[in-house]
Amino acid sequence: MLASEKPKGILRQKEKLVKKIENLADYCGLSNRRFLPRAFLIKTVSRFSCEKRIMYIISNNADGGENAKFDPYYRQKSAFTTIKILDHIKTALSAIGQEATILTEVSADYARYDAVVVPGRLGEVNPLDSRNVRIEIKASLGLDLEQLSRYLWSPSPLILVRVITRHVTKIRPSEIQPYVSFSLEELSSKVDRLLSQKGYTVPGTDCADCPNIECPHWVERSRKRRTNVVTLPDIEFREDLTLFYRNLSYVAERTALLVIEELKVFSSARKQTEEAVPHLKLNQFEQQKTELEIHGRK
Ligand code: SF4
Repeated sequence: MLASEKPKGILRQKEKLVKKIENLADYCGLSNRRFLPRAFLIKTVSRFSCEKRIMYIISNNADGGENAKFDPYYRQKSAFTTIKILDHIKTALSAIGQEATILTEVSADYARYDAVVVPGRLGEVNPLDSRNVRIEIKASLGLDLEQLSRYLWSPSPLILVRVITRHVTKIRPSEIQPYVSFSLEELSSKVDRLLSQKGYTVPGTDCADCPNIECPHWVERSRKRRTNVVTLPDIEFREDLTLFYRNLSYVAERTALLVIEELKVFSSARKQTEEAVPHLKLNQFEQQKTELEIHGRK
């Protein structure tokens, strides 16, 4: 299917993909073995170009080959950034009396979000609700576009924060629906090829990270790439830290503004709907809003 063709319902495409992924799990004999989360299967299919590698990882429950040891500097920077941004969101929400729940490390079918802000009290909220605001925080320069692509399969807005470059932006999946539809369709075709044993072997630079050591194209990864220790010269390390601290308060403030803006959009849309149709219950409204977003109308 071409991206320019009329987009199909994203929800239907996701359901179709999940069904195929389950068939793939059965085909690889995973149903009778240790449970492998759907998110892992979808991520594996999506992340690699070499389909021989994908089948190897799934069939052998193998490490994808990407788990190089990270310098704790990156992990701690990320954890610290998340705390600072969420603290500021709480301060901003409480200043305007907006009730909301903040959840962290939220798992969905095919993703894990750094944070999700949902209107309502803890215990009443659904982390997968279409009215939530998802937040993805990048404390360092890395930006995983494959991960981001999967995040776009859900209709709710996604705020992407990149501290070092001072970027804070809100992405509405409904505004790029042709791409979302295209990416789901491509993954679906990829799973079809895997299921029919017609997958493509794609040798290349990825062979150095591949866990399939039996493949004739496999090459040993160089020692240098096994660890990810920060080896910046002093001056660059100082610049990295300076930029980080210089930008942190700005991105925290901007993220809080976008979250509040989004929660207000939802509250005002709900108010208008309830005034127009007083008997409409909240969950009916949410269902209606999800449908509208999924079909790209506003
Ligand atoms: S070694 Fe290369 S060609 Fe072989 S399975 Fe791995 S990625 Fe594919």
